Amino acid sequence: MIYSLYLKPIQMLKINRNILIRLFLLVGFFHLSNNYSLANLSKSQSNPKYFIGKVQTDNSLNAENLEIFVWNADETENYVLNDLTVKDSGSKIFSLEWPGENPLVLEVRGEKGAGRVFVDPEKLTDTLFISYPVTEKIVFLHTNDHHFDINLPDQLAEKIAEIRQSYNDVFLFEAGDIFVRHRHRWIDNGVLMEDPVWYAQRAKQMVALMNQLEYTVMTPGNHEFDYVETFTLEALSEADFPIIAANIDVVTDLFPAVKPFVQFSTSTGRSIHVLGLAAISSEGKGIVQNDIFDTAREYMFLRENADVFMALTHIGLQNDARLAAEFQELDFIIGGHSHHYIEEAVFVGDVMIAQAGGNRHEVSENHPVYLGKVTVILENGILTEKSGYIIVIGEENN
Ligand SMILES: [Zn+2]
Repeated sequence: MIYSLYLKPIQMLKINRNILIRLFLLVGFFHLSNNYSLANLSKSQSNPKYFIGKVQTDNSLNAENLEIFVWNADETENYVLNDLTVKDSGSKIFSLEWPGENPLVLEVRGEKGAGRVFVDPEKLTDTLFISYPVTEKIVFLHTNDHHFDINLPDQLAEKIAEIRQSYNDVFLFEAGDIFVRHRHRWIDNGVLMEDPVWYAQRAKQMVALMNQLEYTVMTPGNHEFDYVETFTLEALSEADFPIIAANIDVVTDLFPAVKPFVQFSTSTGRSIHVLGLAAISSEGKGIVQNDIFDTAREYMFLRENADVFMALTHIGLQNDARLAAEFQELDFIIGGHSHHYIEEAVFVGDVMIAQAGGNRHEVSENHPVYLGKVTVILENGILTEKSGYIIVIGEENN
């Protein structure tokens, strides 16, 4: 700087500008290097993460009454949680030191109940913003009545991946009739394929695709129950997902065992109970269908410990509507069998019903693929909103 005093004004200006640029570079470098080392630290298992959280309440609430807990902390995890301040605008600031390697679930308790927030340590930045009451979104993607049509698998996979990227909790359900039981309908792009070997291959391809797409659960359809030789069993035995149907008794070795219901948890530990209900079209094959509604009544106890309670069915829209009318305990029903294209999910009382169309009973490249998307919103753990619609992938080409 002293040196620059002896320079002409124009040169001084240049020097100063250079110094400024250098200063900026220096500050920038420190900034970058700090970020860089923090990023490195976060990948290391031994170094905890420090961050500031800010809980903003809605206007009517006093932030002083809020309490923040680490919901999923293990006894061995040595974390530190501090309440810092309550700000005038109804917000509370806290700091947290978290061991770092495990996902973090925070619970915010206040006068409107307890809400949970899932925090991915990989995505954690310096400040975590939370709104109270806390809303959690759960997405249920669903398909039904594929009837061997595995058209546009890449686009379907891409769409599902995109949705899984956007939400913490995405489940993928199949509401039955992935196969075709009648030989006169084993049509592959216009060619009749009467050989059961074609059925066997196609059935295995169908299940392999569903495994690849990571289906969560399936309710079988009447086309699956009307099995073909040992091929249906062989294909379904390869499924990585459970098969549920509470009103069906399997008393043959030619069909896999089915479970009545399944329970899943979300990333924040919310419990989802799924009841399976199905129908058969042929008797005498060792598959017994019990009454849908009597069976459903026996399983209404599932409501008790469920944050979300739903039925995954293959009984047709008319039966779904009756199910909804008789069992208002259900949050919603995802159905199949009647091939109803329910553009926007419908309601019977408080129970929502969704179904995502269905394919003709033949394989063709000219079908679009229908992917249903049901979204439920929990506000502080209580289901307050639900909606559903169909995403159409590809076009009708005839
Ligand atoms: Zn069906």
